[in-house]
Amino acid sequence: MQHDDLNQLTFNNRFVRELPADPQAMNLTRPVHGACFSRVMPTATSAPKLIAHATEVADLIGVSEAAVQSDHFAQVFAGSATLDAMDPFAMTYGGHQFGTWAGQLGDGRAINLGEVVCPDGKVRTLQLKGAGPTPYSRTADGRAVLRSSVREFLCSEAMFHLGVSTTRALSLCLTGDAVMRDMFYDGHPGDEPGAVVCRVSESFVRFGSFELPASRGEVEVLRELADRTIEWHFPHLMQGKSQPDASTYVAMFHEVADSTATMIVDWMRVGFVHGVMNTDNMSILGQTIDYGPYGWLEDFNPAWTPNTTDAGRARYAYGEQPKIGLWNLIKLGNALVPLVEDVDPLSKIVEGYQDLYSAKWRVMMGDKLGLGVLDDEAGTELAQDLLALLSEVETDMTIFFRQLARVPIPAEGTASTWSDLKPLLEAFYDPSQGADETSQDSMERLAGGIDHPGPATPSVPEAHRTNLIAWFQRYAQSARASSLTEEERVQTMDAANPKYVLRNYLAQLAIDKSAEGDHSLVQELLEVLRRPYDEQPNRQAFAAKRPEWARHRPGCSMLSCSS
Ligand code: AMP
Ligand code: MG
Repeated sequence: MQHDDLNQLTFNNRFVRELPADPQAMNLTRPVHGACFSRVMPTATSAPKLIAHATEVADLIGVSEAAVQSDHFAQVFAGSATLDAMDPFAMTYGGHQFGTWAGQLGDGRAINLGEVVCPDGKVRTLQLKGAGPTPYSRTADGRAVLRSSVREFLCSEAMFHLGVSTTRALSLCLTGDAVMRDMFYDGHPGDEPGAVVCRVSESFVRFGSFELPASRGEVEVLRELADRTIEWHFPHLMQGKSQPDASTYVAMFHEVADSTATMIVDWMRVGFVHGVMNTDNMSILGQTIDYGPYGWLEDFNPAWTPNTTDAGRARYAYGEQPKIGLWNLIKLGNALVPLVEDVDPLSKIVEGYQDLYSAKWRVMMGDKLGLGVLDDEAGTELAQDLLALLSEVETDMTIFFRQLARVPIPAEGTASTWSDLKPLLEAFYDPSQGADETSQDSMERLAGGIDHPGPATPSVPEAHRTNLIAWFQRYAQSARASSLTEEERVQTMDAANPKYVLRNYLAQLAIDKSAEGDHSLVQELLEVLRRPYDEQPNRQAFAAKRPEWARHRPGCSMLSCSS
């Protein structure tokens, strides 16, 4: 049932009905004790304007295209109007930021409008990001700028279509108000267009939502939050019990560990670097949440982080993500101790995490290589050796894996040569070539739909060629031995290795254009990224590797937390 009038949506507002509320009604920045949320209204903006929306998400919540195009929609989803059935609130949570306990954080610029009962029967929270200050805004303004909102909007949807667990994005609205930011943290603040994204998820509860009451000894708040979380999101764990008990909390922790591992394995599969894996940015549902200074691996470099704030330590670099997932789970486990009253069962889950993660990783790498599960040491070694090779010479991760499926497996006894590996050539970066292309040229290339001309013969060092050929011969041997046919190998690989990802420079080009009032590239990227695993013949340019101009450009290769 798709509604033409937003007032027809059914809200159940269970979070505010069933969890402890902040007794104070004043929207002033302050510590909030003994509560899971504070009621707060979005702050109206001067000229709400919808610039992009995801039709699939509108369908999901039961909003028709006519409703989306109405002026009322822009008003509501830019925070200038609320529906009578909404009971807006900001959530209370804490978190470990960059390894250090930060105390109370909370929704400083996110306002939950309420929970909608969707046509599929599920209940989903609608959350505005950038809709004005809340009691958790600390010293900041509760607003968000266009550039970070475009990035959050596009990446949420791109991740969904890639099959990675994520919060969704319904809409992207301009507010008409300027927001001041010091983008490079260098003492040069300037005005930027303000924007609001409406995010959608079954839950926005974070690891930090449990950590805060646990840190304060508020065991009853902790228990209520855990009990409602289980009731709403893990109901199968109740198994006829009327109340959750210690074993139910442990079972929930196990499921969170599992879904977190799945999410991170998927990040590793598609080359996504979250950039700020603080425990307040870890979803209890194992969804990717809080798209800030994230980035996509271009050349395969496990030590790369897009977040300039983290450049020195690279705590949240691509290759560190599995380890940080575990670190964060340990913090969640600690927060659950007062409910379980026994550390052992929680510790067991923590101890089993490495094996859990590795098992998922072997399935994922087996798919990426089109070999089926890598269930022996030799298979694991084959995958690890390839990753080591990829990091030796600047190689585009996305193109390499996609193109590996284009290299036919030779018959037993046939030696491979460098020219057999020709489909892989596109994946190599060669800074000496293409350096004269400007961002304007790139924009035109995308508009024309033409392929990246690319260097004809990138100079891949001789020794590296030899190593790659040797690796490929081992790979071919495994492919011949695998139970998959050649056709199945290609199919499996093409379903695991996307052709199109939200390359850092593509998002930046869309932002540049949007800032000038032309939002067409945002819409086109959304369209391309809807089918990331399909060949899209007139959209080849969107699959091209990063142009040289983007190598060091802020927004493309490095991002600050300013948003
Ligand atoms: P993040 O690093 O974006 O996950 O944010 C960490 C904390 O800072 C969260 O509690 C956010 O709500 C808060 N925060 C970030 N930006 C703002 C802002 N512009 N206004 C208010 N709070 C913010
Ligand atoms: Mg956050």
